[in-house]
Amino acid sequence: MSVTKRYLMTPGPTPVPAEVLLTMARPIIHHRTAEFEATIAEATQGLQYIFNTQNEVLMFASSGTGAMESAIVNCFCAGDKVIVARNGKFGDREKSIAETYGLQVIDLCYEWNEVVKVADIKDTLAAHPDVRGLIVTQSETSTGVLNPIKEIAALLRDMPDTLMIVDSITGIGAMECATDDWGLDVVMTGSQKGLMLPPGLAAVSVSEKAWQATQRSTLPKFYFDWKKYRKSLQKNTTPFTPALTLIQGLNEALKLMQAEGRENIIARHSLLAEATRKGVEAIGLQLFAPPEGRGSAVTPVWSPQGIPAGKIVKLMKEGYGVTMTNGQDDYKDRIFRIGHLGYFGMFDIITALTALEMALTSLGYDFEQGASISAAETVFLQAQNEKDGEGVQ
Ligand SMILES: *Cc1c(COP(=O)(O)O)cnc(C)c1O
Repeated sequence: MSVTKRYLMTPGPTPVPAEVLLTMARPIIHHRTAEFEATIAEATQGLQYIFNTQNEVLMFASSGTGAMESAIVNCFCAGDKVIVARNGKFGDREKSIAETYGLQVIDLCYEWNEVVKVADIKDTLAAHPDVRGLIVTQSETSTGVLNPIKEIAALLRDMPDTLMIVDSITGIGAMECATDDWGLDVVMTGSQKGLMLPPGLAAVSVSEKAWQATQRSTLPKFYFDWKKYRKSLQKNTTPFTPALTLIQGLNEALKLMQAEGRENIIARHSLLAEATRKGVEAIGLQLFAPPEGRGSAVTPVWSPQGIPAGKIVKLMKEGYGVTMTNGQDDYKDRIFRIGHLGYFGMFDIITALTALEMALTSLGYDFEQGASISAAETVFLQAQNEKDGEGVQ
């Protein structure tokens, strides 16, 4: 039997660096200790850096969806009007959560390969000046579409009773999310995405405006009651047993992220995405997301005519140990998605493209072998040359 080396190339969960894994392998400590209080304080500061905010950032033991639900139950009352602008699976989920809690959803629904339009939001806000919240997904992981959060948030500057709520679950740690500068009231992420951790920890930044909204919120909540977390956080602790191993891992991941720097993290993801796009286009494949809204967390690609995406993904996983993912819902067999979010470097992209080429060859797709690798390599070399050029000046 031969050993298969495995590669995780999905937009969540994502690979975890060895430093982080080793930290999490240490024996469990108790969380009501000075030692763990210091861990929480460090995690909070690091999260503020990565969220680009002075706001408090709360942590929950939950997946990302818990953070989404927490935003609804803490900011609103049943019957409150909110706009949900959605163009993918996670926007759909936001709508469902809001409806579950009896909010009145003004539904701005787009095709999955469309970008949320600022002008539409502007019109909808004008038609519904009494909306209490505007909910948008920054990086739609189901489609790779990047929505213009900065421009959308700017529309709320003169609306003191309307909160800007952003699912940045695959934005944070990959793309620019200037929480304070853009005026984002609630921003959420989950550990298994750009933070380079296993699943199980969610984080939410809460602005002063959002804290004010919590005062009028009457929706039932217990575990996700932000006020409990805020009160505990002031003593560097949590109201319930925290996902302490993940928080220890988080600090290690945050160290890596702070050493690299926010700008460099964004630039790295942008380069990896560019190389992936150039690579797949070089073998005649079509990108799913439109040019005006392509994020750098994941690259969704149309499956070639006659080849179901599920088959490509299955062959790569079972044949070569490379895990990518196919589309969701209506796009299950029509697109496949290459994740490059978090702990990814240039040669991961080369690996991904090679596995893709091999799978496509086996499934009878006709193209020039090696063309995607060559295209990606060119993107990397150009970037390297530009960097070296900067160095000698
Ligand atoms: C992963 C993800 C979520 C949350 O999913 P969980 O499985 O609950 O962690 C929400 N929104 C987006 C955009 C995501 O990528």
